[in-house]
Amino acid sequence: MSHLRGREPFANVQEVAQALRPSYPVLCVYRNRLEQAARRFARLFPGKVLYAVKCNPHPMILDALHAGGIRNFDTASLAEIAAVAEKWDDVEAFFMHPVKARPVIATARKVHGVRVFALDHRDELRKICDQLGKDRDGVVAAVRVKTADAGTLFHLSEKFGAGVEEAAELLREVEREGLRPGLSFHVGSQCLLPQAYRDALDLLGEIIAASGVGPVFIDVGGGFPAPYLGTEMRPLEDFMAAIREGLHALKLPSTCEIAAEPGRALVAEGCSLLTQVQLRKDDRLYINDGIYGSLSEMVAAGVRLPSRLIRLEGREPSSETMIYTAAGPTCDSLDMIPAAFRLPVDVREGDWIEVARLGAYSYALATRFNGFHADTFVEVSDSEEFSC
Ligand SMILES: *Cc1c(COP(=O)(O)O)cnc(C)c1O
Repeated sequence: MSHLRGREPFANVQEVAQALRPSYPVLCVYRNRLEQAARRFARLFPGKVLYAVKCNPHPMILDALHAGGIRNFDTASLAEIAAVAEKWDDVEAFFMHPVKARPVIATARKVHGVRVFALDHRDELRKICDQLGKDRDGVVAAVRVKTADAGTLFHLSEKFGAGVEEAAELLREVEREGLRPGLSFHVGSQCLLPQAYRDALDLLGEIIAASGVGPVFIDVGGGFPAPYLGTEMRPLEDFMAAIREGLHALKLPSTCEIAAEPGRALVAEGCSLLTQVQLRKDDRLYINDGIYGSLSEMVAAGVRLPSRLIRLEGREPSSETMIYTAAGPTCDSLDMIPAAFRLPVDVREGDWIEVARLGAYSYALATRFNGFHADTFVEVSDSEEFSC
């Protein structure tokens, strides 16, 4: 929808519906909320805040976070590095994917001047050294450590991460290769336990002791939760307190660079979805977005989100509500979300539904399956979320 680019922001989502009467899904960006979330996180975290680009790489999201003061980015591919490095001169992309193609390592370094690379295996260290050649000055090799399963929605240490002994050995090897040693971890996404960060930092303490190497870079990863319905969420301050305690116990020199890689916590509340009802069958609403579009986490992770009905003309919606199942637009029968929304009992074709808190892992995961692609973004200047 290129005709929407450069347009003045809409006042609110109601106005988006009025102006566009969209039969396609529209992602509404609450720029103010994104800026606020970025500022708040940076105020609370004792180090650099690296936005995890994969969580929502849309340029409008990146712009809002940059306006909110974010200058560092956690990236995992050349496309993600370029998305930020070619946009601004005052930013740094950190290459935090532990497994990279050889030419990609070389390009990241030579073209984009990337300084920090993650790894979790000696063969990856070999690849990094080969590709850097003699160009190793100031380059940090951050060893990704496997953390315990902390009851997160998405546990990420099954795929990546070195165990304690392996990580200690890698740190020593990093030093022998003339690179600067670093450590990173990711407790898993939508982590509800502040203690998980403390435990992971204690684990880093064991690794540091076992290796005899002093790290110059410690990265506590992402995982900070978003307030989905039905989650008992501790405030961000509690997570930061656990991290501060953990860092304090490591007795790091003040020169050690500290970083975090929040994705979800920065963007989840900064975006909502405007989707239209195409057909109703009893308690099932056929809508124009689904699990192959913006709503995959509603099934993959059972995420529940606030929703409200938007009807532009005709009778006011009933004040009585019921639970609806949503059926997405593709022909796949997997494309269904049980108990998706609580809405008025008289929802009908042509009504819109605003689904809030959909900034994270929505657009980023949307496919083009069946010719549907949820990729229209508009800005709204409102910063209040509707009450639910
Ligand atoms: C996905 C990811 C993040 C962001 O995780 P959130 O749970 O969205 O905060 C950060 N770092 C790495 C390495 C990741 O893979």
